[in-house]
Amino acid sequence: MARYTGPVCKLCRREGVKLFLKGDKCIQKCTLERHGRNTRPGQHGTSRARKESGYAKQLREKQRVRRTYGVLERQFSKHFVAAARRPGKTSENLLQILEMRLDNLVYRLGFADSRAQARQLVNHGHFVVNGRKTDIPSFIAKPNDVIAVRDSNKSLEYFKSRALLLSQKGIPTWLRLDVNAMSGRVLTLPSRTDLELPFDEQMVVEYYQR
Ligand code: SF4
Repeated sequence: MARYTGPVCKLCRREGVKLFLKGDKCIQKCTLERHGRNTRPGQHGTSRARKESGYAKQLREKQRVRRTYGVLERQFSKHFVAAARRPGKTSENLLQILEMRLDNLVYRLGFADSRAQARQLVNHGHFVVNGRKTDIPSFIAKPNDVIAVRDSNKSLEYFKSRALLLSQKGIPTWLRLDVNAMSGRVLTLPSRTDLELPFDEQMVVEYYQR
């Protein structure tokens, strides 16, 4: 499955904001803070930033959302098409779809430090959804779905140490975690106010509808 394999801090420097792509490491030692927010990568990175057009602003917002969730362009536009088909606000639907991706849920439940790590754990077949092994990071869960570590993998050193950390992790209100069972349930779809995300998702909609 295709994924971005280049340097991740470069993505934050390009967007000029912390995207928290390395999990807890981003809190302790951040490259963006060391370089400064106005140094974009590349030869002209330190040159004076030009005034952005409306299109450029929409593009940047779309890239910020896409890179935060670690989704490549083709998959992201598929999510957008699915969001536009659902009733309600497309912008909110899009965020809900991204949040309900299996790799994101594994990250939100605290089984991984970052979405990239969650993606790898899912790819390696460590999780079941409603009792069935699921190794597709883009799998879209639904309310009442239960995501759990496979029984045979609970004894792995990684998950044993993770279980100790899980009780200290803050879990979103729309999810419920059972530390003993190493599983989590999706209680409901998250509303926009549940998601403390610094995005203007309406700009993403404008980008695709231009
Ligand atoms: Fe982004 Fe984290 Fe790298 Fe900072 S440390 S630039 S937040 S990926």
